[in-house]
Amino acid sequence: MQLIIFGAPGAGKGTMAQNIQKFKQFSHISTGDLFRRHIKEKTDLGKLATEYIEKGLLVPDKVTEDLIRHELDMIREDFILDGFPRNIAQAEALDEILQDFGIKLTACVHLDIDPEIVVERLVNRMSCQDCGAPYNLIIKKPKVENVCDECGGQLTRRADDNEETIRHRFTTYHEETAPLIDYYKKQGLLMTVNCNEGILTKLDQVWEELSALDK
Ligand code: AMP
Repeated sequence: MQLIIFGAPGAGKGTMAQNIQKFKQFSHISTGDLFRRHIKEKTDLGKLATEYIEKGLLVPDKVTEDLIRHELDMIREDFILDGFPRNIAQAEALDEILQDFGIKLTACVHLDIDPEIVVERLVNRMSCQDCGAPYNLIIKKPKVENVCDECGGQLTRRADDNEETIRHRFTTYHEETAPLIDYYKKQGLLMTVNCNEGILTKLDQVWEELSALDK
């Protein structure tokens, strides 16, 4: 099963990618996580990515596409692409990469969410710096403040989860990423999931639909 997940910031891409693994093991490829790792390790790519991420802009296509080609070249099993593609040019580049590797997509899952819900969700979002488990101070509080329930690691906030950057990330989403809805609809790959009540309430249903497509 080869999946793409996309949606507005805070729709629950990472949460879905992590939780769907209770049904099947996937390689989870998140461009946002890859960039954050480079930033933490202070690589040249990390320095470049920081300039864009802190402004809520997209990291240049060529850099991002090369990163994805490299990641996909290393795996041949089931995967979830989380946060890539993020515009039409990247989607076209991905079509080429997949063709080169002889891979066919199963579905492109669009996580649809009301913008008002999402801002509150983002400013309350935290994750474990060790295992990456996601938390939310309103809907999924850790048992002990700032400590991960799963591994005891420390919870942190993302640097780009502040109101100003969130606003820019939304503009970027609407201008650049939302056109993917039509792009994948035309390819017959689009599956839209309403996430206003959180992706976890929809997980069983999403899995059932994906499994039917995979037959
Ligand atoms: P995410 O973790 O998916 O919310 O991504 C965080 C930030 O990383 C985004 O706001 C972008 O600045 C950058 N980013 C992630 N994926 C991409 C992509 N496919 N193309 C360009 N920039 C990206």
